[in-house]
Amino acid sequence: MTDIASAIRKLSGELPSNVKLVAVSKFHPAEAIMEAYKAGQRIFGESRPQELAAKAAALPGDISWHFIGHLQTNKLKLVLPVAAMVESVDSLHLLEAIDRWGGENGKVTDVLLEMHIASEETKQGFSREEILSVVSDASIFHNVHISGLMGMATFTDDEAVIRKDFAKLVALRDEIAAGRDRYRGLPQDFGILSFGMTHDYRIAVGMGADIVRIGTLIFGERTY
Ligand SMILES: *Cc1c(COP(=O)(O)O)cnc(C)c1O
Repeated sequence: MTDIASAIRKLSGELPSNVKLVAVSKFHPAEAIMEAYKAGQRIFGESRPQELAAKAAALPGDISWHFIGHLQTNKLKLVLPVAAMVESVDSLHLLEAIDRWGGENGKVTDVLLEMHIASEETKQGFSREEILSVVSDASIFHNVHISGLMGMATFTDDEAVIRKDFAKLVALRDEIAAGRDRYRGLPQDFGILSFGMTHDYRIAVGMGADIVRIGTLIFGERTY
């Protein structure tokens, strides 16, 4: 068995059955993805539009592609035809553009709103207030299905800091769920949380992540 296949098997055994594994294959070749595919993995994460489009065209049609990177509106046509979910919607401008594209092309896109939970300023995402504002007016969107929230913790070994970052996502999801009457434009099934990567996925699973996005542990270090 290859290292990739055994990492997939190990993770599938370890993760609770209700937690979805997104195998983050960015910067890794199609052959590496096929090794994971043969081990049963069907959801893959990519962060660059051109790379996603090329891989989706070359690889099996039953792969579910999650886009997880920063997305510019002029790249929507590469991503939206093939993505099962865009996890990284980080601005109202982008959300509106995805909605408009969906209207023009007859596709409703499943999305997560990315929340800025890390202490690094450089990371993307909405603030809590911005997300509350988007979800209070969600009925204006007809071609996006807002499924939940995504976030990335501060890059640190300090578990307390990671927990504090992740807790912001959980708290906001719970706050929105509790205020359902005010957020009637949201889908009934809103509430999915995507958080946890190679170095913090165990913490994430313990805190109730529905989706974890794991790259390095499966495919090895990325060479940029
Ligand atoms: C690259 C990336 C991951 C995977 O990171 P690893 O540390 O390799 O597991 C997860 N989420 C996002 C948004 C990423 O860009």
